Amino acid sequence: MKKGLCLFLFFVGVLPVIQAFMVKPPTDPKPPAWGFFAHQRINRLAVFTLPSEMITFYKFYIVYLTENAINPDARRYAVKGEAPRHFIDVDVYDHQYNDSAVYKMPRNWRDAVKKHTEDTLQAYGIVPWHINFMKYRLTKAFKNREATKILRLSAEIGHYIADANVPLHTTENYNGQLTNQKGIHGFWESRLPELYSDNYNYFVGKAKYIKKPQQTAWQAVINAHEALDSVLRFERELTKRFSADKKYTIDERNGSNIRTYSKKFSKAFHDKLAGQVERRMRASIKMVGDFWYTCWVDGGQPDLSKMLDKKYIEEERKRLEKERKEWREKQQQKKLKIRSHEAALQHQIHKLPHQGCCHAYARYYTYLRKKMQDSNKSLKR
Ligand SMILES: [Zn+2]
Repeated sequence: MKKGLCLFLFFVGVLPVIQAFMVKPPTDPKPPAWGFFAHQRINRLAVFTLPSEMITFYKFYIVYLTENAINPDARRYAVKGEAPRHFIDVDVYDHQYNDSAVYKMPRNWRDAVKKHTEDTLQAYGIVPWHINFMKYRLTKAFKNREATKILRLSAEIGHYIADANVPLHTTENYNGQLTNQKGIHGFWESRLPELYSDNYNYFVGKAKYIKKPQQTAWQAVINAHEALDSVLRFERELTKRFSADKKYTIDERNGSNIRTYSKKFSKAFHDKLAGQVERRMRASIKMVGDFWYTCWVDGGQPDLSKMLDKKYIEEERKRLEKERKEWREKQQQKKLKIRSHEAALQHQIHKLPHQGCCHAYARYYTYLRKKMQDSNKSLKR
């Protein structure tokens, strides 16, 4: 638990808070949903919702499934088309639907493309459709008895499902930047879980079969979007009651002074949200388990006990190394448009040997953190 807490403070605490207060150019990609720790915890806990025919397999690979929950975020800056898979700005479509587009947009991808064009959909995010696409791919992997693909796609669908459950990933105002609430993304997804998520109740019951996966993915977006108003409104209301010196505090972390939301302000916000972060985490865990189970059923319920072998992890390790090499090559050929500071970060992650993703990402983010600290320092007079 101590080790977990350490990772928690690092990934969920330090980094996102630094990110939250960085001054970013307006074209910067969106921050990743959930802190890394939360993504890992969601995948890990989803394993325990599974029936006996599946749980042995998923427990056998639980470290892989946990560590690789964050892979999709790691390639956001390297793989073309990755970023929009993590969010959907449903409110940008409101004016076309006489308000509340989230209830009215086409659920089916083809219908949505017909109505809005693919370019527009990609520009404002595709998470509910991408979950359905991942569901199709994972089902196929079960059908074909492809253990490494089952592992990879299980870890990754867990990531996208968790993202779809984050209120601030359903809006154009994803970091409060349009309402003078900049930093709220990291506040909700990282600072609050940092302070409170150890006390959440994560018992969500057994995984159930999903009859309509595409609708279910959309329902997650609807639920998240319905919670958005409270997120923004409560923070705004509390800001009126807290002077700036009470709202923020300076934390010394790793030798650097970082401005972050004070514990008092965080508690007031968390109290007002009345379990919202916990509900979104619980919903994510349940939904991940439900999707894994549904894919296995639709894939013909293969006997997973025949796929318990560490060689699959080794195969996956090799694939990941190859993938990173390809990213590096693509980047060198300048096929992908990456801004200079992102390219530097990408270079770092490509250089990392695979020592288990946790180590690799820890090193990557140590570097990232230093970059951000330097950037913070240069902002101070
Ligand atoms: Zn993400």
